[in-house]
Amino acid sequence: MGLGAVLGLGLNWAGGQGMVDADIVSMAALIGKEIGDLFLRLLQMLVVPLIVSSLITGVTGMGDLRTLGSIGGRAIAFYLTTSFLAIVTGIVVVNIIRPGEGAELALLEEGAGGVLLAETPSSIGVVLWEQLESLIPKNPLAAATEGDMLPVIFFSLLIGVFIGLAEHREGSKDASVVRRFFSGLFDVMMQMTLFVVKFAPIGVFGFTLYAAAGKGPAAFQVLGWYVLTVFIALLIHATVTLPTILKLATGRSPIQYAKRLTTALVTAFSTASSNGTLPLTMQEVEGAGVKPEVTSFVLPLGATINMDGTALYEAVAVLFIAQVYGVDLNLAQQAIIALTALLASIGAAGIPHAGMVMMVVVLNAVGLPTSAVALILAVDRILDMLRTTVNVWSDSVAAAVVGGRE
Ligand code: ASP
Repeated sequence: MGLGAVLGLGLNWAGGQGMVDADIVSMAALIGKEIGDLFLRLLQMLVVPLIVSSLITGVTGMGDLRTLGSIGGRAIAFYLTTSFLAIVTGIVVVNIIRPGEGAELALLEEGAGGVLLAETPSSIGVVLWEQLESLIPKNPLAAATEGDMLPVIFFSLLIGVFIGLAEHREGSKDASVVRRFFSGLFDVMMQMTLFVVKFAPIGVFGFTLYAAAGKGPAAFQVLGWYVLTVFIALLIHATVTLPTILKLATGRSPIQYAKRLTTALVTAFSTASSNGTLPLTMQEVEGAGVKPEVTSFVLPLGATINMDGTALYEAVAVLFIAQVYGVDLNLAQQAIIALTALLASIGAAGIPHAGMVMMVVVLNAVGLPTSAVALILAVDRILDMLRTTVNVWSDSVAAAVVGGRE
């Protein structure tokens, strides 16, 4: 990561001085991106088979279905509580710093906003209903093919539950073949993950080179205050709120726990994808002593629906945009933003820039122009990296908290 940053910023600077041809700088950025993308693809390749096999193995391995109920209930309570706390933190910080006030619209309006979204739901009821609807796949295989993770998770959980029922209630021998198949697949996928992980440093180098050479430090200046606001709020959530919960609920040292997760957190930061990072998160959280039956349920589900960083970001970004437009939002409107931000974070996929796309839902809910997304497009990558790290950290804390009391 350090190497990518030094090389990228150096090239960017030299390009600006005319010491290096601009084409060479963009070429370096492009090569960095290609290298990073290759690594990200390797990780993404693992996600569907890994999640499906791990969830099914996790559920069937739990034996008593009531255990799933208690793990599931606690996990979801954790997801909702921490996402809500993250949003409140974001709203408080953005109201204190007020990064959008006095910002020059002309300076900010670059980049294309129109490309992002054509169709979006407008009310909270619609958003809620669509969340529920999107849980049920019309065709589980198609959902898996498209990497549509929520329905895949839902269906895998059902398979796990019904393998158990078929085995225990009906005494079907054939059902246990299905169980053994998925458990075997899980072993294979974990082995493959161990192999892919070896390339992490190269991928991280590539992505850092891309960001540093392509954007340089200047790209971030105009939106500096906004970035700073999101950063401070994320930092509070990651270093105060989550560690406090971890410490109180499990007695674990947050610093020690974070150290065990270094590779996952650095990968989350550089790839900006919780889904892509998932194999590493699972491996390291298990390495930190959380039971596999907990990680195999809490982490894949968390990577998909528990996004504290994204939730916080949605709220801050919309309030920032409102400030830029000189719109003063009252408490009720900020509450609507909070709720919509929560839903948007649940619906956002664990892939780069997913939160950005969901922004339109939140903007719609308070009647701000959706084209305003263009304002914050330039700095989305860096914020995506930060919020994804917090997303993965929160998932990992969730696993420890749920597992700690198991
Ligand atoms: N990139 C984020 C993630 O994978 C989602 C987002 O865009 O906020 O967790």
